[in-house]
Amino acid sequence: MLDAHSVAAALPAPEQAAILLDFDGTLVDLAQTPDGIVVPDDLPDLLGALDRVTGGAIALVSGRSVAALEGFVPQYKGVILGGHGAERRDDAGLWRHPLAGSDTLAQLIAGAQRIAALDPGLLCEPKPTGVVLHYRRAPEFEARVRGEMQALAAPFSGLDVHFAKMAVELRPDDIGKDRASVELLSKSPFAGRRAVFCGDDATDEPAMRLCVEAGGTACKVGSGASGAPLRIADPTMLRAALWQWTQQR
Ligand SMILES: [Mg+2]
Repeated sequence: MLDAHSVAAALPAPEQAAILLDFDGTLVDLAQTPDGIVVPDDLPDLLGALDRVTGGAIALVSGRSVAALEGFVPQYKGVILGGHGAERRDDAGLWRHPLAGSDTLAQLIAGAQRIAALDPGLLCEPKPTGVVLHYRRAPEFEARVRGEMQALAAPFSGLDVHFAKMAVELRPDDIGKDRASVELLSKSPFAGRRAVFCGDDATDEPAMRLCVEAGGTACKVGSGASGAPLRIADPTMLRAALWQWTQQR
């Protein structure tokens, strides 16, 4: 586990870096429910500072929808890759995966809502490009939720059943933070820079790996297995590291 100063010192210079940041568990502490997170007071200014020192080579890369992230950090004007890459907000506007608005998605959401009705501790979170069933407040339902969500997805092609931290998510199988990051890193102002990916869970690992392989680096936030060369304790420490980094000459 590194301190903030050591992480800041290990990152490429701001004008040579592209910064890709997961949101939940990376920039903000996890909460019992997705809506329960508290956006730290310093986060909007930090994102603004990162945007400035990198010349716009910054992106939020999250499983959340673009709309949800816009709600949490309305001041942030940089790139957002939402829905694990099924949505992208950039200067060109908002792009969404074709699953968005489809009959298939409507059926999946209706099915997940039926599963969530099994217990008040279960929470269905519809997304523009998928649906999540959270069981953080009813962990005893894990096996049942996993089985029922798999059964719900089975009749459809092109879907990935993703087992996350205390949640099961149905989403397109041709997306991912890594794929979306590769595409982003081919475009101005990201192209030619050393990419830095900061994340906290398994869905971040492929993107972290590719940044390292491409000559950049990655920082894992928290405990647990990771291929990231850098590691820091929690979102508060990561924000401190990023603040220090923006204030380098
Ligand atoms: Mg996360």
